[in-house]
Parts: sequence; C-alpha cells; structure tokens
Amino acid sequence: MNFSSESFSKKIAFDSEHLWHPYAALKNTPARFLAKSAHGTTIETADGLKLIDAVSSWWCMAHGHNAPEIVEAIQKQSEKMCHVMFGGFTHEPAIELGERLVEFLPEGLNKIFFADSGSIAVECAAKMAVQYQHSLGRPERCKLVALKGGYHGDTAGAMALSDPDGMHVLFRGIMPQHYFAERPNCRFDCPWDDSDFTSMERVVEEHENEIAAVICEPVFQGGNGMWLYNAGYLKRLRKLCDEKGILLILDEIASGFFRTGPRFAMMHTADANADYIKPDIMCIGKALTGGSITMAACVASDKVAETITNSKIPAFMHGPTYMANPLACAAGIASLDLFKSRNYAENVKRIESRLRANLEPLRSLENAADVRVLGAIGVLELKAKPSADDILKVIKDTGVWLRPFCNYVYTMPPLITTDAEIDRICEAIKRIGECEPAPVVEGEDEFHE
Ligand SMILES: *Cc1c(COP(=O)(O)O)cnc(C)c1O
Repeated sequence: MNFSSESFSKKIAFDSEHLWHPYAALKNTPARFLAKSAHGTTIETADGLKLIDAVSSWWCMAHGHNAPEIVEAIQKQSEKMCHVMFGGFTHEPAIELGERLVEFLPEGLNKIFFADSGSIAVECAAKMAVQYQHSLGRPERCKLVALKGGYHGDTAGAMALSDPDGMHVLFRGIMPQHYFAERPNCRFDCPWDDSDFTSMERVVEEHENEIAAVICEPVFQGGNGMWLYNAGYLKRLRKLCDEKGILLILDEIASGFFRTGPRFAMMHTADANADYIKPDIMCIGKALTGGSITMAACVASDKVAETITNSKIPAFMHGPTYMANPLACAAGIASLDLFKSRNYAENVKRIESRLRANLEPLRSLENAADVRVLGAIGVLELKAKPSADDILKVIKDTGVWLRPFCNYVYTMPPLITTDAEIDRICEAIKRIGECEPAPVVEGEDEFHE
C-alpha cells in the first residue's frame, strides 16, 4: 500500500484548515476518514479500513460504488466530449438518457428539465409551478404549501420548502415565505385515518388563491426526520389539488429508483380499485446516475408543459451552465440500463425483510424510541444520541459506515447489498443503540455531526 503516516497526517491537517465539509465546522470537527477507493458496497480508506457503505454515500449509490458499466460509459464519453453548452446545442447522451427516462418514469410525466443537483431540480419545480399559474392568468398564485418534517435541499428556494423548524432556521431572513401543513402522522403500515389530512385541508382552504402548488416527499420524509407515512395522504392530496387547480409536486429525489420498494414511492398509492396517483411535476436525483456524478431532473406532465408552452411567455427561465452535462448523461444512461436489467424490486423485498428481522428486536433496547423499515430503508430512532466518539468506535470495530443524525441511526444500503452485509449493518446499528446517551452540548451541531 502506498501510504505513509506523515503524508497522511499532513493531508488531514490541510483538509481541516482549508476545506469545508457538509454541515460541519471548518476546524476541530470529529475525525474524518480519508477515502482512497470504493467498489461495490465497500469504501476503502487510506489507512486500510474497509467500510460497508450503509448509507449509499447519502442515498445515491444504488448499484454500489464504481459499477463497471457506469465507469466505462463515462470513460467512453470523455474521449468524445466532456461538455458542451445545452443552449443552442443538443447531444446524443442527453437524447438517449431522455428516451430511457420517458420509458422509466410514470406515464404522462415526460417533459424533462435536467438540473445539476436535487436542490436545483426542486427550485425548477417551484418556478415551473408558479409559471404555470402565471400562464393561466393567475400571477397571484405564487406560494407553495409544504409539509413540516420535509426536506427538499439546501439552496434558498429549497430550504424555504423544508421543515420550517429544522436545520435552516438561521436563514429565515433570506427565504421566501411559504405555507406549511402538519407532518402526516398516520404511519405507512396503519389503516388510513382521514383526520390526518385536516391540517392540509385547512391551509389550502385559507390560502387557496395564493397557492401555485403543494410539494412533498411521497411516503418517505428523509433528510429531516426519516419518517414513513401513509400513502392514503397522497390520494387525498391529489384530489384536493385537482379540485382547487393547484399543482402537485412530488419530490422523489430520495424515494425514487426502488428505494422504498416500487420504482417510485408514489406507486404505493395503487390499490385494487385504482392506479397509483401521479404528480404534475416530479423531481428525481440522487440514484439517477447510480451515485457517480451529480445530476437531477425536474419532470413536468404534458398539461404543465403545454400550458407554459402555449402562453405569452413560453420559455422556462432557468439554465445551469452544466445543464445536461454529457458525462453525467452517459452515466445516467448506464445507470438506467442497470435499473432496467436488474431485478431490484425483488432485491429490495429481500433487503426489507432482512432489515425487519434484524431491526424489529431492537425496540427492546433501553434507548430505543422507534423502529421503522420500508424497502431498503431501516431506521432505529433513539431517545438520545450517543457521543460522536462512541459512534466512531462502532464504525471502526464493525467496519460499517453509518452516519446518524439527530436521534436517527439508519441504513439506506446500496440495492446490491447481500444478506450477510445487512446482518453486519444491523449489528452496527444495534451497537450504536446500546451506547450510553451523550450529554447534550449547547451550541453543538445537533443535526449532522
Ligand atoms: C437530497 C435531497 C434533495 C437535495 O438534493 P441535492 O442533490 O443534495 O441538492 C432534495 N430533496 C430530497 C427529498 C432529498 O433527499
């Protein structure tokens, strides 16, 4: 191994002096691993640790790290053209990815705006909804309704739609003001309780004429609460939006691509009597390129796209520099081919039952508050979180990379994770659950470190 401890500590020292990391202080942050390579489910560090990536590198690494098909697609594309502006040009990788997406996405959602990250896709969705209402002569409809406990990204427009009491409170001053309904409380696997919809009904009724759209993460609220709620909520929401001429935006950035079981989480709304409900606009990202390069998309229905197109202002005014980057498109094509050819629906069922078998017994831990499992998502909610040092020790001892936040110790493993690896991941979760709760330190980043 090409590794000397002197150069190692120098690099770490440089990092801590100069490089910001997500949701972290610049200096004096907890120990970091120096990642050297990653293949399949495993990340290897410079000092020789092998860690199972139990969080799919923030939920995007669906096929595992460095899937050879994706690596090859990027290499081949890089020999021809790394980038070209999408204004005035189009290219085969964008067209081919578009063709695959139109086939993969729910029917009727097929007008694709490529964005460079999930947050940007959410910004585009909000703008598109407002422009849609403007096209219909309703410019006063420029607010959105979102859910408490939601997460839609870190840019200003996306923060403004995320949980209003969450990690972005400091930035209220620069955020647009929207409306919020209570978090749906009816659990995913309980019978639907219609009173759960009262808050949303009230908010919409009160502000009807200002509302362009409602946005939510279907069934699985991720980044702000790891919460799983009843699909009945989405059916009620679809109906209400239709009655009021309000658009429905579903943010499937975390829940899409089989993460919750079916291809998209909205598909949980299907029952014996009816097809699943569809949004007017949807956002996808994270697993789109299989975790290889940043790329997301905001996808509009025919109705939305045509209304805007046939109006006085037919152009949609958004255009990132790296829009539809050919390398990212090539990665997306290879990723979608894997989603099509591999039987992830079956695999996720297997992962789900293994997670359930391992995690349900953890309810009996003294520090356990709740256990939640759906698809390839497993959450142990604690009453109080252990110290960062204790968590780090479990990671090193078990060789499982976990990234708990708030009181949530969770896994969202790559969709190729084996049963034996799931067992190891759950053992690590259990050990964190068994750690002593740490005293709460005033001013410490409560959310992500
Ligand atoms: C991660 C996430 C985003 C933001 O995506 P980025 O690529 O990090 O900007 C938006 N919505 C949901 C539901 C997410 O999980």
